[in-house]
Amino acid sequence: MKIFKGITVSPGLVNGLACLYADEAEGNVAHYSISDEQVPNEILRLKQGFDKTRGTMQEMVKIASDTFDKKAEEIFNVHMAMLNDPGLLNKISKLVEEKKVNAEHAISDVIEQYINIYKTKQGHFQELAHDFADLRNRLIASFTGLSGHFECPEGEKHPVIVVAKRLTPYMVLNIPRENVLAFVTKEGGYTTHATILAQSLGVPMVFGIEIDGNFQCTDNLIVDGFTGRVISCPDEQTQKHYDEKIEKYNKRRQTCALKAHIPPKTKTDLRVKLKLNISVPEELEAIKDFNHDGIGLLRTEFLFLERENPPTEQEQYDMYKYVLEKAAGPNGGKPVTVRLLDVGADKLPLFFNLPPQVNPDLEMKGARAVEAFHGVYLAQAKALLRAAVHSRGGDLRVLYPMVSDMTDLATFRKLFSAAKKELRKEKVKFKANIPDGIMIETPAAAIMSDVLLKEAHFANIGSNDLLQYTLAASRGHPLVEKRYHILHPALIKLIEMAVKAGKMHNKEICLCGEIGSFEEFYPLFLKIGLRSFSVAALKFPHLKCDLMHMRVPKGAQGATLLKKAYAAKTKEAMDRLFRKSFK
Ligand code: PEP
Ligand code: MG
Repeated sequence: MKIFKGITVSPGLVNGLACLYADEAEGNVAHYSISDEQVPNEILRLKQGFDKTRGTMQEMVKIASDTFDKKAEEIFNVHMAMLNDPGLLNKISKLVEEKKVNAEHAISDVIEQYINIYKTKQGHFQELAHDFADLRNRLIASFTGLSGHFECPEGEKHPVIVVAKRLTPYMVLNIPRENVLAFVTKEGGYTTHATILAQSLGVPMVFGIEIDGNFQCTDNLIVDGFTGRVISCPDEQTQKHYDEKIEKYNKRRQTCALKAHIPPKTKTDLRVKLKLNISVPEELEAIKDFNHDGIGLLRTEFLFLERENPPTEQEQYDMYKYVLEKAAGPNGGKPVTVRLLDVGADKLPLFFNLPPQVNPDLEMKGARAVEAFHGVYLAQAKALLRAAVHSRGGDLRVLYPMVSDMTDLATFRKLFSAAKKELRKEKVKFKANIPDGIMIETPAAAIMSDVLLKEAHFANIGSNDLLQYTLAASRGHPLVEKRYHILHPALIKLIEMAVKAGKMHNKEICLCGEIGSFEEFYPLFLKIGLRSFSVAALKFPHLKCDLMHMRVPKGAQGATLLKKAYAAKTKEAMDRLFRKSFK
């Protein structure tokens, strides 16, 4: 038995057979010599390979564009531009002529040089190394006719746990979806296509696992997509433990699926709002059957990151209109809350061209970014005002990131006044009165929420950032992982302040940070008066199901719970308290 620890990007629990999946081209390139006479024919083969790849890519771009998969479209367009660079074909042809080698060999050698150059660089350039690897594989695949393959027949016959070093968009599109029990990869990320596919399929995915030498086809594997554990060849005791766990988990999934149509409410019929956090538009497909209360947080960073130039106003307008129409539900009426570009330590657009910051979480954030990159934000504000015309009964609401005081709020509002002025001048149709809200992500915002909510139409509590600024502990750094205490009493106090301010001004306060995904904390959330939550799509069905078994802790029981939470001295004490109080 071997246990590996990775990073979960899609939860779930499964047990099944491993099947290694490899790109046809990875380490499998035909190498042979050719004679002088064969050179013209080989160059012709090479050109045909380029043409065939161009055709495949055009198809991919079309699929991506039809499904509004902007990210995939962008990736395929980048690959297309590389393929169309005459320098690339020339270099490869020259190698065929000079070294008298077959086309695949020359492709592999030339592109390897590019990969090696970009591999050593930083940030965006490293991504280019991946793009070149993908391009090489596509070109090689044009000769073999395969774009990826299972390394044993199991993967073609039965659902398996797909184990791969890396999954590219091409590979994902080529794996029959019904054959996937889970994905286990070395490379990955929160927004890669494999991740999105895994999430929309509802299958677990764990990345960050060393694949080489550790797995073989038909190994018995357990993927625990809650803890990020992958267990290969479990011993008897572990197998038994997981058999029981998996059975329980599957039963719960079935029960939750049966309740999918019921609106979110507690055991005592208290209706709460349960909305969705969306980070890429592809997720909208996965939520179409959920009975939800709208999009509580549309993160718009996907439109701005990993690109050389900012998106145009028109591009954004198309996207917001699409999201609005898709998320409004068949009968319309569901609000969509769109957050303006939220820049930060891990999300700085390349085109900002900012020098390294000393303390990124305390520098180019919120309203400061609006002042520094006015044009970028102006285009976004104009696109949103125009798209709001298409809300079918459900409002488009805008959300300002990282607002700490009235000056920040004024900066955002000034931006929208300027956007309206321009649209009027351009005689373009737009909706003038869209509700605006603030993210409460700093202690200052929570403390000042009574003042801020007099003005703002609603607030979202961004507990991920609120916690890091409250505890002065970075949200993503291993050094302070222990200090980043998911439910610190100080955080509860700040949330409670915001909830009270919301009540005072009759404004909605929605909790949209990760903490809202922990069902065991809901008795406390309900007790302090929270009635609106926005959670990741993959957490939604279970949470709604769990809510149905809960009641707001009343009287002495409620008071005790709150008192104990405030008195908890350690993370462990907090965990013990809530694990016990749940259900
Ligand atoms: C938060 O900070 O809690 C939040 C929802 O925003 P993000 O995670 O996008 O920073
Ligand atoms: Mg935040």
